[in-house]
Amino acid sequence: MHEWKALAIHYGTAQRPVSDLALEINDLHEAASRIDYFVWLIRLPNRLILVDTGFNAEEGAARGRTLLIHPVAALSRLGIEHSDITDVVVTHLHYDHAGNLPAFPKATFHIQDREMAYGTGRCMCHERMRRPFAAEGVVDAVRLVFQSRVCFHDGEAEIAPGCKLHLVGGHSKGLQVVTLTAGDALLVIASDALHFQSYLTNDNAFPLFADYAEVMEAYNKLRILAGRNGLIIPGHDPVVLDRFSALATDLPFARVLL
Ligand SMILES: [Zn+2]
Ligand SMILES: [Zn+2]
Repeated sequence: MHEWKALAIHYGTAQRPVSDLALEINDLHEAASRIDYFVWLIRLPNRLILVDTGFNAEEGAARGRTLLIHPVAALSRLGIEHSDITDVVVTHLHYDHAGNLPAFPKATFHIQDREMAYGTGRCMCHERMRRPFAAEGVVDAVRLVFQSRVCFHDGEAEIAPGCKLHLVGGHSKGLQVVTLTAGDALLVIASDALHFQSYLTNDNAFPLFADYAEVMEAYNKLRILAGRNGLIIPGHDPVVLDRFSALATDLPFARVLL
């Protein structure tokens, strides 16, 4: 297989009204716009780290999202078995990030304390707050707790040499982002701390969050984490497909980040 340390796997897409994707909509709110769905894969010596697990077919269909390739099928196209994944980072428990947790029988799951508390706590009594969560996905996460397979974190943690988790909150109470350092290269996998790259410069935001102040503060944290030369990878932006080339012509869903 080709040399790579980090991939973005493009597994889903949807057309949504702009008003579903941006808090500041100006006069574009009638227009449909595209949102893409990714999981990310990090390869380190003796470790294969999957960042998020994507939505599953039922949940995607119920919400009108197009599943281009099931994340597990994408991995197998890359020659990776479910059981090869040593670690799954759950950036947060939303349906499109924690939909296939039981598919990885050997993995340790990394979740922030605050995310599990939020996804199983009193805020989920409110329809608007629980909308991006799928009860089944959250229950899957709870089952993993009872199987001693969850590694809880409270803030920053280095889960493998050069690979760190950082709690940012905001979009979801316990949202975490991932940094990967390899030589001079630094990658910041922002997940839903940054849906679209442009939001970092125009201070726009995805119109769904647990704490708006933390959403704004998360942008600062991303800039600090990236420093001068770090590359920030937005969580749902079609621009990723323009910026990063495919691993191979027959693997168009796998984009080489590093
Ligand atoms: Zn989310
Ligand atoms: Zn998302």
